[in-house]
Amino acid sequence: MPTLTRALSLVDADELVALTRDLVRIPSVVRPGDPDANEAAVAAYVERWMRGQGFEVEVQAVASGRPNVLGVLGERGATPTLLLEGHTDVVTEGDPAAWTHPPFGADLVDGKIYGRGAADMKAGLAAAMIAAAAIKRSGVRLGGRLIVGALVDEEGDMLGAKHLCTTPLGRELSAAIVCEPEQNELCLEQRGVVWARVTARGRMAHGAMPEAGANPITALAALVADAPRLERRLRALCTRSRYLRPPTVTPTVIAAPVAGVPQSNVIPAAAHATLDVRLTPGPDAAAVAKEIDEACRRAADRAAGVTIDWAPINGFRLATRVERTEPLVRAMVGAVRRATGRPARWGGVPGSTDGTILRMELGIPIVTCGPGGRLIPHQVDEHVDVAELVDAARIYVAAALAYLKP
Ligand SMILES: [Zn+2]
Repeated sequence: MPTLTRALSLVDADELVALTRDLVRIPSVVRPGDPDANEAAVAAYVERWMRGQGFEVEVQAVASGRPNVLGVLGERGATPTLLLEGHTDVVTEGDPAAWTHPPFGADLVDGKIYGRGAADMKAGLAAAMIAAAAIKRSGVRLGGRLIVGALVDEEGDMLGAKHLCTTPLGRELSAAIVCEPEQNELCLEQRGVVWARVTARGRMAHGAMPEAGANPITALAALVADAPRLERRLRALCTRSRYLRPPTVTPTVIAAPVAGVPQSNVIPAAAHATLDVRLTPGPDAAAVAKEIDEACRRAADRAAGVTIDWAPINGFRLATRVERTEPLVRAMVGAVRRATGRPARWGGVPGSTDGTILRMELGIPIVTCGPGGRLIPHQVDEHVDVAELVDAARIYVAAALAYLKP
């Protein structure tokens, strides 16, 4: 039997469904300040499972109770090295009463698994684990290494991905499939994000004598009013994409005063705003920063005596793109056809993922492709379709065997 046929036949749908449901049943909402609310339990499950399959396992302590777990197949030092990437954290379930199915019950109804993280992204992680296990069980000798990475903190500051990039295993990566819920479309582009935290500083004064002060709120109001202009300038700078919405600039936080008690008759000394800036591929960090700098300068000019500065929260996550000529992309296009019998469908990732960090820090090609509807993550009654889940595991098997030619 050909290697691929044999490996695909070893993807067991029932085992995959059971594994996904097990992962969903282990809550991994991160609640800062609560030492028990993190990825520890699900990471321990993944580690135990990988060891049980005979994977070589590396556990990386990223923060207290927050380990990255990596399972490795193939010989040490063999290249290239392909990562199947998933994250173990999930966002909050919100009000459980708003759910039709309990958020951590992993109900299986009419071919769908329900629960927080069902799509984003315990399904993708389980599909990656099962794909690697099928390859291992097939006995094939890979031409390189296959790594399944279960990383922490994707929904937060992406500490897991950032940490991985600083480790020897991370630096040895050649390419990555990011198993996020993109309805199994091949996404070669991801939108970028910069959260610009803006601080305006003026001079405190009595509200009855505004001429004695300098009002930072006036400057921030000018900045917010000017946001459409910043958006237009960024759209001119960024490349148009068939798969991504164009850049947007959205004020999401505005606060004043930033110290002391708000008082109706006091002009505050300082005010804060945050702009959520979304990007498509094209400009580098310096070019984006220059546009935000200029918007801040124009706003400061509108309020005498006020200065404005800004800094990115969590740095720049630029938009990413890889070319269709990349060996990983070619491998995946063929893999979708062989695994599902259908041609590949293309898509784009509306936000940033751990793949953004891998692309920016390591420069490696990434393709985002995984089971689950693109709009389902973070919603009530989040779910994943079992048929799509099984397809994903089969795609990963075929892609890994094509990229790491035995
Ligand atoms: Zn995710």
